[in-house]
Order: sequence, then C-alpha cells, then structure tokens
Amino acid sequence: MIDAHLHVVPPQIPGAGSLAPVLRLPPERVAGIVREELLSAGISRAFAMGEWCITGDDPLGVNRTLEIASHVPELSAVGVMDPTKDPADRDHFDRVATVMATGRVAALKGYLGYLHFETTHPTYRRYYELAERFDLPVIFHTGDTFSPYAKLKYAHPLTVDEVAVDHPGVRFVMAHLGNPWTLDAAEVIYKNVNVWADLSGIVIGEEHELTGPAAHAELVDSIDRVQKAIRYCGRPNRFLFGTDWPLVPMAAYREFITDIIPSDMHELVFRENAERLFRVK
Ligand SMILES: [Zn+2]
Repeated sequence: MIDAHLHVVPPQIPGAGSLAPVLRLPPERVAGIVREELLSAGISRAFAMGEWCITGDDPLGVNRTLEIASHVPELSAVGVMDPTKDPADRDHFDRVATVMATGRVAALKGYLGYLHFETTHPTYRRYYELAERFDLPVIFHTGDTFSPYAKLKYAHPLTVDEVAVDHPGVRFVMAHLGNPWTLDAAEVIYKNVNVWADLSGIVIGEEHELTGPAAHAELVDSIDRVQKAIRYCGRPNRFLFGTDWPLVPMAAYREFITDIIPSDMHELVFRENAERLFRVK
C-alpha cells in the first residue's frame, strides 16, 4: 500500500494555513503520529510534500520533511518548485540539481493556482528539464484550492496537457484528479501517455464523514465524478492512491477509495502504479 500524496509539514503557501494543528508540532512528535497513521492504514511507503520555503540551504523546501522522515523510514520527500525564481538563476538551479543528484527527493511539486504561474512559465520549464535528467515525476496541484488567494485558472487540468506535450520525457501527475474538473483531467490522461492522477483529497473530513452508507449518500456527486473519470479514460494504470493526510484519517480514506473504485483496479491503484511512477525498487 503506497500513499502518493500526504503532508507532514505545512505547505507555506498563501492562504492555505497549516492544514492541521498536528503539523505545527515538533518533528519527533509529528513523526510518531505519522507512523501510527501509516501503520493503521497498512501503508508501507508514502510521499510527503515539502514546503514553499526556499532558501540557499534548502532549495527544494524539504529539510523539515527529511528531518521527520529520518524517524519514519516509510516516508519519502517531494521537493517544491519555486516559480518566482528567475529562470536564469544558475545558482538556484545548480543547488536544486545538487539536491536531486543525492536522491533525497522522490519527485517535484508545483502549487498551481495557489501560486499565480502557468505550467508553461519558463521557470517551471527549468524544473521539468531537471526532472527529466534525474528521472523524477512532476506533481501539480490541480482543481479546487483551499485558499481565497488562489486563482483557479492556473489549476485547471488542461494546463497540464500543454507541458505534457512539450516535455514527453517527463511524467506528470495531476493531484486530486483536478476535482471538480475530473472529466477534463481524464481526457488529459487519455490523450497523453505521460500523465497520471492521484486520488487524494477528493473529499476531506473525519472518519464518519468518509465511510458508511450515510457518508456515501452525502458524497454521491464527488464519487460520481471520480467514477465517471475512471470509466471515461479507461487507463487504470495511471491512477494513484493518495490521502492528503492530515486532511483525512489515512485508514478511513483508504476505505473510501476502496469502496468507490472497481475492485480489479485495487492492486494497480494502491501499489503497482506508484511503484512504476516513482521507480520504487
Ligand atoms: Zn496536498
């Protein structure tokens, strides 16, 4: 069981807050809580998003995530792309490349919408070149945002189509399946062999809001959007399980996804697809 999308540090993006108070605790305490959650959900590998807090010492915003991961062997860190950098800032991109060369990051993340930069921005393209060189996926936030400061046009799944075409050697992931534009996301997956989607954060809340017939009745439209997207694109090998913890309890979200996707996709979505995407040995 692989969780392709969770947070162990606040993302530090405008208007998104800390996601949950637990992420403000000291790293060892966060580590203990994350381990319990992983164990309870049977997750053996998890990919944790870094923070948009880019410094010379930490050019991908992963130092705090790596500190937590030092206590949680199941965790891998995902570096954060900073589109505010000048694409010609050689110092910065050299430092980014140095971190990527160490193997300490498993992917790169772009906060579309939260940051007002399009996927085709020249600075993002520098990161795609590095992602291709180091054979790492690029994950984009797509779809609805938690921040009133975000601009949705940057977060639409169609914006991923353009760079998927321009950078065929890069594997792109649309987080949250572009929800609520899940059918648009499905078309982008259907058409491009290098585009994937994670099923994290489709719904958020406590266990009783995610599992059981009453919760499902309440969530019927969200469930329908995911199921339609999966049926439309007919590519079960491109969907990934992810939780977006701490926005949901991991075990409850696992149960939610188990219930709403076809059972013949479980092996792929919960493990095999992520192994291929992240080149898990
Ligand atoms: Zn997230």
